[in-house]
Amino acid sequence: MTSSPSLPSSAPLPHHPVAVVGAGLGGLVLARVLRVHGVEAALFDLEASAGARTQGGMLDIHDDSGQEALRAAGLHEEFLRRVHPGGQAVRVLDRYGTVHLAESDDGTGGRPEIDRGELRALLLGSLPEGTVRWGAKVTGARPLGGGRHEVTLADGTAFTTDLLIGADGAWSRIRPLLSPARPAYTGVSFVEADLREADLRHPASAAVVGGGMLFALGAGRGFLAHRESDGSLHVYTAVEAPEDWLDGIDFGDPEAAKAAVLKEFDDWDERLRALVADADGPLVPRRIHALPVGHRWERTPGVTLLGDAAHLMSPFAGEGANLALIDGAELGLSLVAHPGDREAALARYEDRMFRRAEVSARESAQGGDRLFRADAPQGLLDLFARHS
Ligand SMILES: Cc1cc2nc3c(=O)[nH]c(=O)nc-3n(C[C@H](O)[C@H](O)[C@H](O)COP(=O)(O)OP(=O)(O)OC[C@H]3O[C@@H](n4cnc5c(N)ncnc54)[C@H](O)[C@@H]3O)c2cc1C
Repeated sequence: MTSSPSLPSSAPLPHHPVAVVGAGLGGLVLARVLRVHGVEAALFDLEASAGARTQGGMLDIHDDSGQEALRAAGLHEEFLRRVHPGGQAVRVLDRYGTVHLAESDDGTGGRPEIDRGELRALLLGSLPEGTVRWGAKVTGARPLGGGRHEVTLADGTAFTTDLLIGADGAWSRIRPLLSPARPAYTGVSFVEADLREADLRHPASAAVVGGGMLFALGAGRGFLAHRESDGSLHVYTAVEAPEDWLDGIDFGDPEAAKAAVLKEFDDWDERLRALVADADGPLVPRRIHALPVGHRWERTPGVTLLGDAAHLMSPFAGEGANLALIDGAELGLSLVAHPGDREAALARYEDRMFRRAEVSARESAQGGDRLFRADAPQGLLDLFARHS
């Protein structure tokens, strides 16, 4: 983004007919679907550039949501070329390291895994250069009447728009135009760890995790880990803990941080503890927040939300990215299906989105309870048994 000074108050502000705040998965797929149908959208993202932050983690993209969105975006075949072969394998262990379930990936699972960075690159590459204004941190927006909004940026500049879409994630700056809700702490904190070149440098950990996803679960605790397409292991260490638990850990000192986290796993199998003990680089803390289940708002002219901005939920049902994608695609399709009637398009989109998100938010909230029950991993095993 430019560092140009604020415009003089007499100059008209730049105007964008469609403005999307946030170039995450949801905002990008929306822009792509609109573009496929000949509608241009301007995207604004606070990141300095497309590559400013590594987009870690694997996502399983569901056939009836995330993949549906990629079909609408005309990118499904390219997506399939980029999936991580074998990534749908799953292992479920208890805290003693006993294997309760080990399924390989036979390619028929309907939920292929892709590296988040690869998916984002696919979407970004499908848009013309310059569609995303990087380094553009939105600080707020206000209604101008008739559904138009003025949006302000951290560099002091502003623009106006006829249609404002908040795709800016958990701490959305657009959400307050629609709803007073704020994300609340779910009671679960994550500490993320990476083990690089796993087959070569961490073969025992590579074997514990397997080719796809590992769930090693106990009461109120767990290691959720997966193999990434670059051969590293990414580990989410989950602990049911008070909101300030992470504040007491010095993450600037990786060895001290490892010791503090592993104290929570004192009597766990050494092969599981090694997922943290042998981590390369710093550990990364993350509190898990969620908006209320069933979060919704009254139709408000000229503005809406999608993805986490609309329905942030815990990751325990693996739905968030899939919902962001299908929200973006359906919003785009609804807008092109109602030319000249923006409000009808938004009402139709929101109606479907609210109902879909409520179901997933409830599943996600229950998912956390199920994973970390006193008899863990039984809750997850029951779920797999029901689905098979
Ligand atoms: C640990 C963890 C694991 C997860 N695992 C899975 C999984 O396996 N499967 C799954 O489906 N989901 C998963 N999720 C959820 C998933 O990551 C999110 O639901 C998804 O990324 C939401 O997409 P989005 O486009 O709505 O928002 P985001 O991906 O958060 O994108 C928002 C964008 O807005 C930008 N932005 C934010 N504020 C501003 C501002 N003020 N001005 C301008 N730009 C701004 C950000 O830079 C970002 O690019 C996980 C989440 C977590 C935390």
